[in-house]
Amino acid sequence: MERLTANYHAHTWRCGHAWGTEREYVETALENGFEVWGFSDHTPIPGMSPERSAGMRMTMDQLEEYAGAVSKLAREYAGSLRIHAGLEAEYHPDWFGELAESARRAGVEYLILGQHFVCDGAYSGAPTDDPERLRDYCRLVTEGMETGLFSFVAHPDLINFTGDPELFEEEAGRLCARARELSVPLEFNLLGLATGRHYPNPAFWRVAARTGNDVVLSLDAHAAEHITGRPVEGFRLAEELGLRVTESVDLTRLRRGV
Ligand SMILES: [Zn+2]
Ligand SMILES: [Zn+2]
Repeated sequence: MERLTANYHAHTWRCGHAWGTEREYVETALENGFEVWGFSDHTPIPGMSPERSAGMRMTMDQLEEYAGAVSKLAREYAGSLRIHAGLEAEYHPDWFGELAESARRAGVEYLILGQHFVCDGAYSGAPTDDPERLRDYCRLVTEGMETGLFSFVAHPDLINFTGDPELFEEEAGRLCARARELSVPLEFNLLGLATGRHYPNPAFWRVAARTGNDVVLSLDAHAAEHITGRPVEGFRLAEELGLRVTESVDLTRLRRGV
């Protein structure tokens, strides 16, 4: 693959840490040769206060306006760019059902699974050598995939495990195998690569390559500057790791409810 024609991972100002207007993103996507563009801003969480959501995610009462704004752009740009309204959501059994219902009602078309926290509320990307936290992360991601409602897993390698590499490989192996069984693609995150974060984590992707997972490259754009149709370094690394890269993503899962 030489260039991206689809990206399903992009944010908007509503999460409080992304910049620019939706229109700017769309215009930049068009200039970069994209044919499909999905916004998947950080989900609101049922019952979470505006104070706790601030700077991280929109609130429940912004959901309808968000999906409406994206749908309006989709109609306006129909013919030149296929625009979709999604959410990047965490999974938690306490409130996920309610969230999926509200998202559907608001007109959200698809969900991607970005498990930014584990059960104790700690950030998944914080370095840890605690096997319990690693297991907790993998369990939540697996349960999330098993709902059948997520189109793919965003940065599955967000967990920043600094402990026993063998244990990591074992847990990652289980997660990748389940993803493959359920036909849930895994995302190779280009923002993490471009900004020198701890992900993409080669140790994880070697396991995914061996397991034969479908891999989606996403920009995770938090600003128009993050948009490029030619992420040369990403393609190079994905090829070097032997990943099976695809642009084919099933956006109908949330609607179908399976
Ligand atoms: Zn973000
Ligand atoms: Zn994101």
